[in-house]
Amino acid sequence: MEVQRLDAQILSGKVFATKFKEEAKREVELLKEKYNIVPGLAVIIVGENPASQVYVRNKHRTCEELGIYSEVIRLPEDTTKDELIKKIDELNYRREIHGILVQLPLPKAIAKHETDILDAIVPVKDVDGFHPVNVGRLMTGQECMIPCTPYGCLKMLESANINIDGANTVIVGRSNIVGKPMAQLLLAKNATVTICHSHTKNLKEICKSADILVAAVGKPHFITADMIKEGATVIDVGINRIAPKKLVGDVDFENAVKVAGAITPVPGGVGLLTIAMLMQNTVHAAKMQITKLDY
Ligand code: NDP
Repeated sequence: MEVQRLDAQILSGKVFATKFKEEAKREVELLKEKYNIVPGLAVIIVGENPASQVYVRNKHRTCEELGIYSEVIRLPEDTTKDELIKKIDELNYRREIHGILVQLPLPKAIAKHETDILDAIVPVKDVDGFHPVNVGRLMTGQECMIPCTPYGCLKMLESANINIDGANTVIVGRSNIVGKPMAQLLLAKNATVTICHSHTKNLKEICKSADILVAAVGKPHFITADMIKEGATVIDVGINRIAPKKLVGDVDFENAVKVAGAITPVPGGVGLLTIAMLMQNTVHAAKMQITKLDY
């Protein structure tokens, strides 16, 4: 008798994001009760990039939903590096602002200074977790701001009771904002971690060895079903716009869902977790600043 295989468990970003936002909201209420402090997030947006405008609006709306003070600072397209750093510095000194985020990408003229600009944020207010101090602290297992997207992926795996300890994990992509911090987080939870990139040989075989496969490539449908081990957990970080109103991930979801044990969809997956974790990081930043934990 042929046994029919059921499709994978769908890891809904909406469900987990709601949970993580509720956790943040409870913390916001506690901070208010205990210290009369409202966590504050400042988001700086330079120029008119339409996608960035949407992201910033969503961040503002989510802050309001959770009781976090939100300030959006809109600067013109021709803002110079020095003007932007001056604005960041003002926010560094403002006590009611606990988190600072510079929306990326920056306009072309200042994009080459991105590192200097992001490094101008004091590490305790760096809610994106991109400052080298936070990167180093993450690597050495110290308390820090963790980049929101990989942090959300980790929290989702834990909340879904997916075993990480001792698991073979493969991450495709080695960017500073997703691939590398994801690797650190999984390593810290005792996974065996392999990071793949555009020079990796035998990618298919490596991916197929993964109990947990994280795709952060930025290429539509790059991970096909034949690269996935039966029953593996597949986390699709990719967001690729293939038509004006059509977003797809890096994983060929339709076929992968028949092989994987659990999988995130796109849209409706990891993207929703990122903003929830930004809220958690803002609360975390406020707590660290109240307790004067500085680094
Ligand atoms: P990057 O472009 O910075 O990195 C892509 C990585 O993929 C690189 O390390 C690159 O390797 C690797 N890669 C490219 N081609 C291949 C290949 N043929 N084989 C193996 N590896 C390859 O992207 P990001 O990490 O910033 O983002 C990845 C995706 O995640 C994007 O779609 C982005 O939109 C999405 N994203 C989603 C977020 C969310 O909230 N859900 C947040 C951030 C990103 P190499 O280093 O050798 O060039």
